[in-house]
Amino acid sequence: MIIVHRFHIEPTKEQEQKLFLTLTLCRRLYNAALEQREICYRQRGKSPTCTSQKNELPMLKRELPEYKQVNAQVLQDCLQRLDNAFGRFFNSLAGYPHYKDHHHYRSFTYPQADKQDHFKKSGCIYLPKIGHVKMKAHFEFDPTTVSRINVKYQNGKWYVNLTSEIQEADTVEIVNKVGIDVGLLTFAALSDGTKIDNPKYFRESEKKLARLQRRLSRKKKGSNNRGKAKAKVTRLHDKIANQRKDFLHKTTCGIVKKYDLIAVENLSVKNMVKNRRLSKSIADAGWGKFLDYLEYKCLKYGKTFVKIPPGGTSQTCVCGAHVPKDLGIRVHKCPECGLIADRDLVSAMVLLQRAS
Ligand SMILES: [Zn+2]
Repeated sequence: MIIVHRFHIEPTKEQEQKLFLTLTLCRRLYNAALEQREICYRQRGKSPTCTSQKNELPMLKRELPEYKQVNAQVLQDCLQRLDNAFGRFFNSLAGYPHYKDHHHYRSFTYPQADKQDHFKKSGCIYLPKIGHVKMKAHFEFDPTTVSRINVKYQNGKWYVNLTSEIQEADTVEIVNKVGIDVGLLTFAALSDGTKIDNPKYFRESEKKLARLQRRLSRKKKGSNNRGKAKAKVTRLHDKIANQRKDFLHKTTCGIVKKYDLIAVENLSVKNMVKNRRLSKSIADAGWGKFLDYLEYKCLKYGKTFVKIPPGGTSQTCVCGAHVPKDLGIRVHKCPECGLIADRDLVSAMVLLQRAS
């Protein structure tokens, strides 16, 4: 299974210049390769293949020595990217490939990372032709599984997207089991009685975001101050997204380490977000990501992940009795067996029961 981890990197001034230079040279190569394809097609009715364009790279470096400053694989990947764009176009998955200006060409890729040792120096990532760049890994990852490194410039910051192939582990014996119910008031309730709440800083960041957006709306269009205000909003958006990812990684790691079987309701998050009233809270809570992270971590550690078809878990008691309650009612009271408990907790218990 393929997963991508994204980390923030902090290049030095000198490294940043090299990064920008790499982006510029790759973009020029991309546009030149697109032009070559078009000219050849017009003149001979046939475009050069990706392989033939790649074979021209050594000659390009002789004629334009600045290209020696870019890693050879990065250049190959740049041509591959164009070929993929044509592939998508011919399969009607996307429009005709565009020439790119610097706003639209903001990343480059080392496609075969596993052949080099990128993580020897702690706190750094080694990017060939750039150097050892400071990297903040805000959660654990296994550097030996990284097969591809994408370097991206976004909103004034640099990131790396590390693609890993996770080998599925042999399934471990099931001793500890848990059911998990995701909800609006509590982020998640576990059948063992644990409740996980959305961290408070989400709300705080959100209030701040609303304030910045109000300020932005008052600025004149096209003014310098508007640009500055907009940059602030974008930066905060990025910060919130990172905080959320961090929270989700830590939470899911804890659960997957503790339990051997995890049962969740197979929610269609996309359908739920359509419902306007609830949409904000749901999108906020990041349930989709939460469930994705749980699933891949279960595969990675050989844990059993069970998706229970949705329906009725919030209206049923562990004894099997039907206990209807609308969203406003937080406490489950069963007239049959007398169980009185938090409604989310009971849902989690029912989920676990259905998985066993
Ligand atoms: Zn009952």
